[in-house]
Amino acid sequence: MKRPMVAYTPSDLFGRPLRSLRVSVTDRCNLRCSYCMPEEEYVWLPREELLTFEEITQLAEIFTDLGVDKVRLTGGEPLLRKDLPVLAGMLSKNPRLKDLALTTNGTLLAEQAQALREAGVHRITVSLDTLRPERFKASTRRDSHARVLQGIEAARVAGCRGLKIDSMVMRGANEDELGDLIEFGKRAGAEVRFIEYMDVGGATQWSMSKVFPRAEILQVLSRRYGCIEPVVEDNSSPAERFLLPDGTLFGIIASTTRPFCHRCDRSRLTADGMWYLCLYAQTGANLRKPLRGGASQDEIQALIVSAWQRRNDRGAEERRMLGSRSALVGIEQLRKDPHLEMHTRGG
Ligand code: SAM
Repeated sequence: MKRPMVAYTPSDLFGRPLRSLRVSVTDRCNLRCSYCMPEEEYVWLPREELLTFEEITQLAEIFTDLGVDKVRLTGGEPLLRKDLPVLAGMLSKNPRLKDLALTTNGTLLAEQAQALREAGVHRITVSLDTLRPERFKASTRRDSHARVLQGIEAARVAGCRGLKIDSMVMRGANEDELGDLIEFGKRAGAEVRFIEYMDVGGATQWSMSKVFPRAEILQVLSRRYGCIEPVVEDNSSPAERFLLPDGTLFGIIASTTRPFCHRCDRSRLTADGMWYLCLYAQTGANLRKPLRGGASQDEIQALIVSAWQRRNDRGAEERRMLGSRSALVGIEQLRKDPHLEMHTRGG
């Protein structure tokens, strides 16, 4: 099919454009973080339903023809998907894609950083909540802290621009490490971003009392560093950025206490081709079915445009408006529909 010269970008009911796509390449993960995958057993997506690299590339092209110019590979743990650099290479051939990024827990990054960089991954974000191996082991139920540090170092050596470290901050778990994580980020050549604990699907142990909010993060860091200046930026990034007196930048993703739904241009494709317009959405559109059923690119595009034009999701803002909050989805419902899990939907 001949591709249009100029991408047509649909807007949703709040005028938000369709710009960024998170592609979860697997629902599997090799860590069991208490805030994401606390259970002993999970229901996994059927293997035969996982999109092939060709199918992901085809869908990505349909999205980029609609104005998407940022794709982030995520999961589950994306590096568990065999030959991920091959997929990255296929995606990066798309001239409309300005930014191909990866979010990983870093455990398998040391082996793959160079290949990912060569395949065209522009930016890598490694999730790391603690610098203490014992704490890491307790909160992830796996003993791979050293491997994550090696992964971060390998990404630096491979010359990854835009290396970031995302740290989920939970009260009573790691709020005493904020400054140390920033110092580690400086040494590793990575910008650190602190994420508030979110009540997304799968966070079955969530409670407001465990959220360590943006305001307290700033207080703690001001005590250590002095005056912290906000950086004024006009973009759709989930992180607000701040400047320390020594010029170091860091970010805060305050999805729980200061949601940014009004500028959210993200949607999410699961490894089996379900498309979600919000991290909190209860339902999504099945793009695998029309793709495998022989629908044309135009037909799939029409489906995407019509769904986006009807989008009025602002899940995090709606959650914040609730008087009292507890876990979003119960365990029984998660077992019936694993698409409701954060690790399936791609964080
Ligand atoms: N496995 C990859 C990783 O660890 O980066 C990608 C998937 S993981 C779901 C993506 C991000 O979501 C991680 O940074 C993780 O800390 C974050 N996350 C998971 N559950 C969360 C929650 N309940 N609240 C806030 N962030 C969460």
